[in-house]
Amino acid sequence: MAFEMVKLPYEMKDLEPYMSEQTFNCHYGKHYKTYVDNLNKAIVGTIFENMSLVDIIVKTAGKPEYTAIFNNAAQAWNHEFFWKSMRKNGGGEPKTELKQRLEKDFGSVEKFKETFKAAAVGQFGSGWAWLVDNGGKLEVMKTANADNPLAHGVKPLLTIDVWEHAYYLDYQNRRADFVDTFLEQLVNW
Ligand code: MN
Repeated sequence: MAFEMVKLPYEMKDLEPYMSEQTFNCHYGKHYKTYVDNLNKAIVGTIFENMSLVDIIVKTAGKPEYTAIFNNAAQAWNHEFFWKSMRKNGGGEPKTELKQRLEKDFGSVEKFKETFKAAAVGQFGSGWAWLVDNGGKLEVMKTANADNPLAHGVKPLLTIDVWEHAYYLDYQNRRADFVDTFLEQLVNW
């Protein structure tokens, strides 16, 4: 059974002016679509054909013979998680329970944002920054290219895509501005 693209949880222009419809046309309509299409092509006739996306990611992670399947499966999942990590009228204060956990494990929400921003800006080249639950403790991690926390047995809670295609049309080379805007205007706590 072929994977289908998930529907965005908002209209493409709902996140303007922070993320443009033009960016979604390219990012959702071309980049994300290509990962889903290539995954579907790559799993035909393999043991992965009827597995869930998460199972495919876990079973192909770190196995050189399955690099193409891992990359496309992980990128499909990462993007689906990223779409949900944002919302119309996002930003503001985290919900009470999350706020308390961020305060416990990072010291404050502001300190979490600083740590998350440093990871997102500090990821050299393409990749992702994440808020994760690592055995009950909240942590920030960054991953390169398609890699993600699931491949390391860690539970993702929030992510930002820092591949250039995620922000170049709206922010050009200013990744730090994109990360600030994500945290203040787009994040779906
Ligand atoms: Mn992307």
